[in-house]
Amino acid sequence: MSAKKTKEEMVLQAKTKHGENAFDYSEYEYVDSKTASTIICNTCGHHFRMTMNAHTRGSGCPDCAQRIIAEKNNVQELFFSYFY
Ligand SMILES: [Zn+2]
Repeated sequence: MSAKKTKEEMVLQAKTKHGENAFDYSEYEYVDSKTASTIICNTCGHHFRMTMNAHTRGSGCPDCAQRIIAEKNNVQELFFSYFY
């Protein structure tokens, strides 16, 4: 018996971490948790390659991550321009 996980198990684990509809795994080809494959972001539609290892630990769409950082910076700029 193999201890290797199936794509379905990995997708379930990823959905537990990121939410049911956060990502589309229809393009994802599961080889093993250390082999990157295509994940589609349902928020911005970006296709990116990532290992399931990183993804199930919380790494998501790189585009959305950058946008969140950019939005945080904008908020800080607004904050500073208001008070100084
Ligand atoms: Zn995204």
